[in-house]
Amino acid sequence: MTDNAAALGALKQYFGYDSFRPGQSGIVDALLGGRDVLGVMPTGAGKSVCYQIPAMLMDGVTVVVSPLISLMRDQVDGLNDAGIPAAFINTTQTPDEQGMVLSQAAHGEVKLLYVAPERLETQRFQSFAAHTSIALVAVDEAHCVSQWGQDFRSSYLGIGDFIAGLPVRPVVGAFTATATERVRRDIVAMLGLRDPAVTVTGFDRENLYFDVIKLETKYKAAWVARYVAEHPDESGIVYCATRKETEALAEALNRTVPTLRGGANGRGGAADDSAGGQSAPIAVAYHGGMSPDVRERAQRDFVTDAVPVVVATNAFGMGIDKSNVRYVIHHNMPESIEAYYQEAGRAGRDGLPSRCTLLWNESDIVTRRRLLDNDYENDRLSPEEQEIVRMSKRRLLDGMVGYCRTTDCLHVYMTRYFGETTPAGDGTDGTGGPAKCKGGCANCDGTFETIDVSDVARAVSRCVHDVMYDYDESGRPSRTAVRQGLGSGKIVAVLRGSQAQDVIDRGFDRCPSYGRLKDVPQARVRDVLSQMATDGFLFISEGRLPIVGFGRRAAETVAPDFHYEIKRIERPKAAGTSNG
Ligand code: ADP
Repeated sequence: MTDNAAALGALKQYFGYDSFRPGQSGIVDALLGGRDVLGVMPTGAGKSVCYQIPAMLMDGVTVVVSPLISLMRDQVDGLNDAGIPAAFINTTQTPDEQGMVLSQAAHGEVKLLYVAPERLETQRFQSFAAHTSIALVAVDEAHCVSQWGQDFRSSYLGIGDFIAGLPVRPVVGAFTATATERVRRDIVAMLGLRDPAVTVTGFDRENLYFDVIKLETKYKAAWVARYVAEHPDESGIVYCATRKETEALAEALNRTVPTLRGGANGRGGAADDSAGGQSAPIAVAYHGGMSPDVRERAQRDFVTDAVPVVVATNAFGMGIDKSNVRYVIHHNMPESIEAYYQEAGRAGRDGLPSRCTLLWNESDIVTRRRLLDNDYENDRLSPEEQEIVRMSKRRLLDGMVGYCRTTDCLHVYMTRYFGETTPAGDGTDGTGGPAKCKGGCANCDGTFETIDVSDVARAVSRCVHDVMYDYDESGRPSRTAVRQGLGSGKIVAVLRGSQAQDVIDRGFDRCPSYGRLKDVPQARVRDVLSQMATDGFLFISEGRLPIVGFGRRAAETVAPDFHYEIKRIERPKAAGTSNG
């Protein structure tokens, strides 16, 4: 809580709120006290207030650097309605209009001036800035300055120079929802923040129930249909990876959900009555490839509750304000925790209990890795820069995979990932115990079953060791001929006693691990191997031909009390579809 009465007064006067949310008051106080700030908060947590309140209380203009020209007008209109003198300059205006805004700002008639980063480099803006008292520069989506983030923008690189070139250095506030340490360091360095107060907050949403379900692809649509059927009168978003999938799934829901409900519960029957036999649609698709009017209609139907479910790509959500979304289901694994959190976080904006379910399987990881390796190839980045971007994206993906596999509390995993400082400050509940599950999650409820795979894991570990040597006819290893190891597919093949030509030709049938897991299903061995990599027992090298080696926790697998569990793949009960 801030004890700064002026800030609280402004919050009440302009926004009608009685109190600051966690993190906001500290940021406001720091900026008002002249200290730079790096604020890391999820989308929707209330970053804007953090610089808008200081802007109103400081002498001089606040320049807000924001990447989205399309959202500037909405933001500025909202501020003007609240009685805040704000304006923007962008390419949609004539030079005369721009000149007018700049002159108003120079005369103190505009307190908040929104610009895109490119604007800062123009001569006109620089001469304006040289003659105007700029109290604060607020940089929104500050992670765009880093090549290690999701959405690097070269235009952000000029912001640091702009600030450094001002006659009087203003206070600088940088804001982002991106968590990684590397990105944070880049923001501080590239914007030239001076001893910034770093605040990470607001990531735990206590009204959200998190759930991760590992499901084979062929069962996913039936799972979603059953969930939708069992939650009539609830509004939900289903995110898919591709445009084609959104359309196929929306169509499947419209076909199967009424049958599943059998007219028995609520909406199914009511819809049939009102439409005279023709049921109202349950779901609409939404993606970037649809014509603008079809897309707008889908959005309107969903926002006005005419259609309860939207099946969308990640194009859906930006600037859409619907507070009563009761569930967000991910049909595929997203590329990062940041992306997942932003999309899942669209559930329960009204604070009521809501559910976020992620459906995934190993093939999602393969798809994501492939997309990532093919990404950027035609981009204007140099090969070295492309590799940096790819590496950082791989790391983001690892965080996402970790979320899918973890048996820890999902709330705790998430807040730890974002590095949030909880009230206790150290990820514990303040009593020295582990952090508590807020809002509930499937892991804490133990709704998943685990399988003891200690023996499989031990065998995998042993095999990774074994395949590094050559063996003679009697199975004795030649300690001198050390090989470079194998990829994960080959390790699984050796363990399962594969007769594949190259396994035999290269003599792996003489290695002691050969056939050791011939009675364990291939998919199980593969799952264990990849979970071991996520958990640090194994290390899989990067590049086109990844090799499996040992990770930092490898030694644990040879300890006598080594115990290892993975989640069992869940399969839905018969979903009741005639052709499913
Ligand atoms: P962000 O920029 O972090 O995505 P916004 O600044 O747009 O988030 O804020 C999200 C919503 O939360 C807005 O509707 C805003 O008015 C509201 N909000 C912000 N601060 C508070 C507060 N202290 N109390 C209540 N609502 C708030």
